[in-house]
Formats: sequence, structure tokens, C-alpha cells
Amino acid sequence: MIRLYTGDITKMEVDAIVNAANSSLLGGGGVDGAIHRAAGPELLQACRKLHGCETGDAKITEGYKLPAKYVIHTVGPVWRGGNYGEEMLLKSCYAKSLVLAEQYGCRSIAFPAISTGVYGYPKEQAAGAAIEAIKEYLRRREGNCPEEIFLVCFDKATEAIYQKLL
Ligand code: ADP
Repeated sequence: MIRLYTGDITKMEVDAIVNAANSSLLGGGGVDGAIHRAAGPELLQACRKLHGCETGDAKITEGYKLPAKYVIHTVGPVWRGGNYGEEMLLKSCYAKSLVLAEQYGCRSIAFPAISTGVYGYPKEQAAGAAIEAIKEYLRRREGNCPEEIFLVCFDKATEAIYQKLL
């Protein structure tokens, strides 16, 4: 089931929250900065051992001081006009994160609007790709996939777009 949540992802009591990280996995601004601040310095230590992450891929750590048990770090594409595989890469972020969540037995997962901050992906197109990727995953799922998939809206514009599309 896909659900909307308006607010700060770092406060969510779910099995896994997804971080819109950069490829170094060594922290940044936006949701990444908020997650690292809330999780504490152990999160950065764990991320150092992962040796980065490719765009469209995902890696997992514990959640440390967060209410969430795990953080799934995924690297969204930088928007370069739409002809550089951005949609495929963004969908891959959602799909790979869901597969990791499933592998770690997560029943609930929360996604921020990946790439729609400093990476500049148009919000409406990003929301469409996110929903399509989740629905494709749910159609193909086997067994223990997460039951509750939250799309987190940090601003009113994103909330309105998701409400319209769902
Ligand atoms: P990216 O580099 O992938 O664009 P950003 O962190 O800049 O990542 O933005 C991704 C989205 O996360 C934006 O829509 C932004 O509003 C949202 N965001 C920022 N802080 C939080 C937070 N604490 N909880 C949930 N979403 C957040």
C-alpha cells in the first residue's frame, strides 16, 4: 500500500527510511544532512565503509539514533534536461531500495522525493516516476515485500502533486 506522509522523514517510526544521498555517501545538505544530524556520527562511520554508491543504486546501514531501524542510501540522478537516462535512474533508486528493504525484512519504508531538491528533477515528473516504479515493483513482488510504502512530502507543492497522482 502506498501512503503519503507530510513532515520530516527523520521522525518516522518505520523499518527503513531512504536517504537521497550523493555518490560519496559522506553526507550533504537537504534530507541527507537532516538524516545524518538525527542519526548521529555513527552513521557517517558506517557510510565510510561502503565506499560510495553509483547513481541509481542503493546501500543500507543501521539507523543508529533514528527511530527507523535502517537507512537505505540511494543516489538519484542530477536533472540534465531529461535525455540522459534520468527517469530510468530515478526509477532504479526506488526499485533497488525496495529490494534491499525486502532483503532486510522491512515491513515499512519511507521515501523522500529523491532528486527533487538540489538535483533539480522537476517535482511532478519525479513523482510520476516514483509512483510508477513502486507500482511496477508491487506487481512483480514475491513474498515479503514491505506492506507500507510512504512517500514523504516535505513541502506543500510535493504533497499536492502526490495527492493528484495517487
Ligand atoms: P537531491 O540531492 O536528491 O535533490 P535533496 O535533499 O536536495 O536531495 O532534496 C530531496 C527532497 O527531500 C526535496 O523534495 C526536499 O524538500 C526533501 N527534504 C529535505 N529535507 C527533508 C526531511 N527532513 N524530510 C523529508 N524530506 C526532506
